[in-house]
Amino acid sequence: MFAKKSLGQNFLISTQPVRRMIECAKVIASDTVLEIGPGKGVLTKALLATGARVIAVEKDDNLIPLLQVSFDAEIRTGQFTLIHGDVLTLFATHPALLTKGYKVVANIPYYITGEIIRMFLEAEIQPDTIALLVQKEVAERIVARDGKESILSISVKAYGVPEYGGTVKKSLFRPIPNVDSAIIAIHHITKALFVDKQVSELRFFEVVKAGFAHKRKQLKNNLKGVIDDTKLESVGMRRAEELTVQEWIELSA
Ligand code: SAM
Repeated sequence: MFAKKSLGQNFLISTQPVRRMIECAKVIASDTVLEIGPGKGVLTKALLATGARVIAVEKDDNLIPLLQVSFDAEIRTGQFTLIHGDVLTLFATHPALLTKGYKVVANIPYYITGEIIRMFLEAEIQPDTIALLVQKEVAERIVARDGKESILSISVKAYGVPEYGGTVKKSLFRPIPNVDSAIIAIHHITKALFVDKQVSELRFFEVVKAGFAHKRKQLKNNLKGVIDDTKLESVGMRRAEELTVQEWIELSA
């Protein structure tokens, strides 16, 4: 079976990263785990071995019969639910599927990385924990180990605590992608920050987006007309990439 580039198919040929993802997400038997893009089932098999209930959504028509055969027993017992569809429309097509406290663990198609992260962090019913295999550069930008925050890192940190779970060499996939990958875990996911601080998500992201809008402009100039003058003064000569989530909250309040 050929891999479909259009569906971001790079299949894992090693179980080492799979074990590490499960460890990062601390999957236990009482968990419900949503897997995006099970592919040929390498991660699915390991998730089911933990005893957890697994729900997987796969878009590729050709992979569905293969997964149905591989996991026939678990489908029959109800431990495994296989959904043929697009993850990006999952909440619309299956509104009552997920209840509070679920986890998302997946080797995702990289062409929709941003959409997937946003979708679950902003969801009405958020997962507790997310562990994803993404491009290494994306994982590094999320944890901002270089001290440089971005819209992406601030967006993730507004909802949870990111952890770099380890690099995964490109040689561990087939077909071999152009770049290395990494595991990114996001723990303690919640909207508490917005509830407690009286700042709406909408307002927070309006200010963050304005702040990062024109890279060459000073942060102060980017925020002119978006926040009030007293707050604008407090920004001084600082750069958008230096500000913490807490400081963005204070500016947006
Ligand atoms: N989990 C498998 C593995 O680790 O070997 C496959 C990972 S592969 C990077 C991504 C998987 O996501 C493929 O099986 C692909 O068909 C599926 N996929 C792509 N776009 C999707 C979408 N919008 N919704 C659900 N699955 C999708």
